[in-house]
Amino acid sequence: MLLQDRIAVVTGSGQGIGRAIALKLASEGAHVMISDVMRETGEATAKDVEALGRKSVFVPCDVANSEEAKNLIEETVKAFGRVDILVNNAGITRDGLAMRMSDADWDLVLAINLKGPFNCSRAAMRPMMKQRSGRIINIASVVGVIGNAGQANYSASKGGLISLTKTLARELASRQITVNAVAPGFIRTRMTDVLDEKVKEALMAQIPLGRLGEADDVANAVLFLASDLAAYLTGQVIHVNGGMAMP
Ligand code: NAP
Repeated sequence: MLLQDRIAVVTGSGQGIGRAIALKLASEGAHVMISDVMRETGEATAKDVEALGRKSVFVPCDVANSEEAKNLIEETVKAFGRVDILVNNAGITRDGLAMRMSDADWDLVLAINLKGPFNCSRAAMRPMMKQRSGRIINIASVVGVIGNAGQANYSASKGGLISLTKTLARELASRQITVNAVAPGFIRTRMTDVLDEKVKEALMAQIPLGRLGEADDVANAVLFLASDLAAYLTGQVIHVNGGMAMP
């Protein structure tokens, strides 16, 4: 077991990549705090974590709301006494060309994808600093590095998240807290299910490994970063993209 009895928090873990991460960490021994805006899916993930023999609590949390983010970490400490691993996974898209993008779509994506991880990290770093240990793992995106037409808000949020990762890594290293990012390429989830077949075919042509990624491909990289195997990595970005970009 790579994470025996560690305490992990995964945001947006009701479905998709966040759910796969929660189950992966639990399968390696972690107890997992599940949080999401949707109670129904969040509670279902928490049940599935418990079915693996670990403890799990669901706490509703909109990561864009700093009070709710603070509450999520407080509830974690109340339930488990510590926070070893924070995975900032919650994220959304509101795509459109920049020329036509509304203020609302810009603001919402930045609030959830960039301010959300800041809110949760700021809340978690206090207990982690006291413990003198911790792992913060941010789920960024390949488009945060290479850009993508139609995703000005999303790519800016993910590029910002990579910069936030590097800054927090520098601020927290002296307390043995590591901060890293995973940048997925195109992963099969609800987020990519909405793309039409032609777009998917065009994407596939750009992926040397010849397939879209699975949520588990991302979860495996998160598991590595959360474990002692990654003790000497901080401020880094692991690209899980089938080779579509090699930055
Ligand atoms: P997803 O299937 O849409 O899951 C996202 C989860 O986050 C959902 O459970 C969603 O809840 C939740 N969520 C949305 N807004 C939230 C908020 N304000 N606070 C807390 N939770 C919230 O998406 P995914 O594909 O698994 O994406 C997970 C992460 O990976 C995101 O950060 C995304 O940007 C990143 N990523 C995905 C891909 C990809 O190809 N899929 C590629 C690169 C990066 P609801 O069910 O209520 O909406």
